[in-house]
Amino acid sequence: MNRRRILPGFPPLQQTGRGREFNQYSLDDHKEVVYHYLFKGMSHRSLDKEILGLDPAYSRGFQSMSILHFLGLVDVHKHFFEGCPLEDALAILKPYTKEEAYLLIYSYLLDKAQMYREDQQAEYGVAELDARYWVSQFLKDVDDRQQIENRLGFIPSSSKEFRYGTRGYYVSSPSLKEVLKCRYDFYCQICHTRIYRPKWVRTLPIKEQWKHLNADVHHIQSLSKGGSDLMENMLCLCPNCHRRFHTEEHILEKSHDHLLVFNQISGKRSPLTIKHAIALEL
Ligand SMILES: [Zn+2]
Ligand SMILES: [Zn+2]
Repeated sequence: MNRRRILPGFPPLQQTGRGREFNQYSLDDHKEVVYHYLFKGMSHRSLDKEILGLDPAYSRGFQSMSILHFLGLVDVHKHFFEGCPLEDALAILKPYTKEEAYLLIYSYLLDKAQMYREDQQAEYGVAELDARYWVSQFLKDVDDRQQIENRLGFIPSSSKEFRYGTRGYYVSSPSLKEVLKCRYDFYCQICHTRIYRPKWVRTLPIKEQWKHLNADVHHIQSLSKGGSDLMENMLCLCPNCHRRFHTEEHILEKSHDHLLVFNQISGKRSPLTIKHAIALEL
């Protein structure tokens, strides 16, 4: 039975620390760490052991602590929602969700409650919010275009392969995909289309604009066929061009030193916009 109690407002998040550990773990890890910290009051050490599967004598709680600190969850938040039904916790958090970090924590809990389909936030997947948050933290205090480019040059990868029953699944790094999209300002490398979300305006600062743009990332050699989850194996595409690769209407070709897209239906070849190193095994 749930023990209900009157809860005050959610204590302010105190974001500190770097995103390295946050980015090393999957969305499900983030979600479970946050949930068990807020609802079960688990210590950093037990989170490392029970959720992340680490040897606590070795990790000393550092990994889950880093994930929590990156989001701004500190001691005052530990078991804040203990005994509180998820729906009530969501109602408490909802007024704060104009801020990214709160929205992300809210989305983890929504996901946990499996209510996200019914919620207005549904158009933003949790994986994408997670990655966008990481990128926004990573680019914090950077406004200069060149500096943004420099920071995006740092490439983290956190792909994972896992088995469920007899099937293998491949999860690519959402943050890495987000970094690639930022590189191309969310323009398709082939047709230069951009997908907009409501509230995009040209006058917004670049990092703000990115929140209202969308693009797909395609793995040139699919992960299931041994392709790497590195930027050199990725393209930033619009949904149409992306689909054309999967139907094999589009194929990539190498001509001397440059890459071309060959359309097998029209027989036309066209160049790609290229702003990152692409490895092509042809
Ligand atoms: Zn396109
Ligand atoms: Zn694809």
